[in-house]
Amino acid sequence: HLKELERIKDLEAITLDGHQVELVGNIGEPADIQGVLKNGGTGIGLYRTEFLYMNSDTMPGEDKQMAAYRSVLEAFPDGPVIIRTMDIGGDKKLPYLPLDDELNPFLGLRAIRLCFKEIKLLKTQLRAILRASVYGNAYIMFPMISNVDEVRQAKKILTACMAELDALQIAYRKDVKVGVMIEIPSAAITADIIAKEVDFFSIGTNDLCQYTIAVDRMNQAVSYLYDPFNPAILRLVKQVIQASENQPGLFTGMCGEMAGDPLATLLLLGLGLHEFSMSALSIPQVKKIIRNVRYQDAKKIAAEALTLETGVAVMAHVLESMKKLK
Ligand code: PEP
Ligand code: MG
Repeated sequence: HLKELERIKDLEAITLDGHQVELVGNIGEPADIQGVLKNGGTGIGLYRTEFLYMNSDTMPGEDKQMAAYRSVLEAFPDGPVIIRTMDIGGDKKLPYLPLDDELNPFLGLRAIRLCFKEIKLLKTQLRAILRASVYGNAYIMFPMISNVDEVRQAKKILTACMAELDALQIAYRKDVKVGVMIEIPSAAITADIIAKEVDFFSIGTNDLCQYTIAVDRMNQAVSYLYDPFNPAILRLVKQVIQASENQPGLFTGMCGEMAGDPLATLLLLGLGLHEFSMSALSIPQVKKIIRNVRYQDAKKIAAEALTLETGVAVMAHVLESMKKLK
């Protein structure tokens, strides 16, 4: 079995009837690159840059950030590297950035919301990403977007950073792709509106589950409710992918844990997901499933799943479908 996974490591993630998708890695720091390369990931679908900030005693400066981003970009000369702007707040704190206590931190000043309050911090990061962009295929991704105004505001700040670099005659990729995480229900429901402003979506099922089902992703007492196979989540995922299909040039990926769950692969493939981003170790397993199914069959399996009433029924349907494929 392990030998089989090793054998397909460098083969494409393509179905029996020729539908190709992209399998890429989630990383928290440049050191994680090796695992992604070793397991056949063709790029990075989520670089969680907040660890750069959390592993430092002081705010990391533009040069230090740029060096980190550059090293990731250079490791994947052909593939995409999606760099997410910092997602601090919620449960993630910085010793050098004191924040007020909040009653509901996960509903509070987190990620892009904090960045809009600390614009200098966001601009430093965006300039660092732009400067690094000349070393590869950088994609910029904004987290915790809840409406289209936030996308426009983030893009305006990005444009200002580009003008600053222009004035200093510093090079960057002017065609750098800009996208957002879809991890808040309001963003998923209005994906057709947001689609007009971006180059790509990446669905963050970890937070999308938390916020859609109103279940703290870390609270064991209610973890039985936390279920990516919940029909509500499947409907949102379908809606987001459809919104991107209606907008030429836009693609949808997923970087939440669901993307690396082998039990979800047929569903996501059948719903038309284009890019699957996961922890490195999951890549070979997910690739094996994709290479052993016809896209036409995955579409049927996903369509059938959308008619089911519970997460348990969806899971049973997937398991049954996978048995039949063997
Ligand atoms: C998510 O919410 O699914 C996600 C990928 O982001 P994070 O886990 O870093 O919140
Ligand atoms: Mg998230």
